[in-house]
Amino acid sequence: MKLNICVDIDGTITDAYHWLEMANEYFKTNVKPCEVTVYYVHEVLKVTRQDYLRFYEMYGEEMHFNAILREQAKEVLCKLNKFHNLYYVTAREEKMKNVTNKWFSMNGLPNSQIYLLGSHYKVEKAKELNCDIFIEDRYENAIQLAQAGFKVLLMDCYYNRKPLISGITRVYNWSDIEKIIGEYTENTIKKLTKIA
Ligand SMILES: [Mg+2]
Repeated sequence: MKLNICVDIDGTITDAYHWLEMANEYFKTNVKPCEVTVYYVHEVLKVTRQDYLRFYEMYGEEMHFNAILREQAKEVLCKLNKFHNLYYVTAREEKMKNVTNKWFSMNGLPNSQIYLLGSHYKVEKAKELNCDIFIEDRYENAIQLAQAGFKVLLMDCYYNRKPLISGITRVYNWSDIEKIIGEYTENTIKKLTKIA
């Protein structure tokens, strides 16, 4: 059974706090990963959104280029890609396309379609791709997707530790994801065979 799996990039495939070092250097701050408890990092860095955007404008590409993979992300994505349809769905803007493609090939990740939405709203794309499972790290996205009826695996981060609703499962690493998708596939096949 082939599932359509949508995968977010930042904080989900990449280490969620890799950008901190550059941001700390730029803003002369000393924020630690455990202090990143909200998604909007300018609040954590105690700078204005405008200042953060200026930093992102200057260093965003470099930051994405130097992003660190989460442990096991590559191995699990390669395995999933053998049996399922993988789609990368990111809020990154279209102008980050080149660096994103380069980073994926540099890291030997499955060469699937990458959608750069330039927006955090992912429900329409999930519908269009007939998504079965969405892997995401942003809390608000997870809620929106689950409310629209999608099954979400939420990668645990300091900034998404809030109450979950039905349809969302918190996962802690890529091995969890592999296990849950394996079980989900098995259970669905069992159900289908019973009906048949
Ligand atoms: Mg993300």
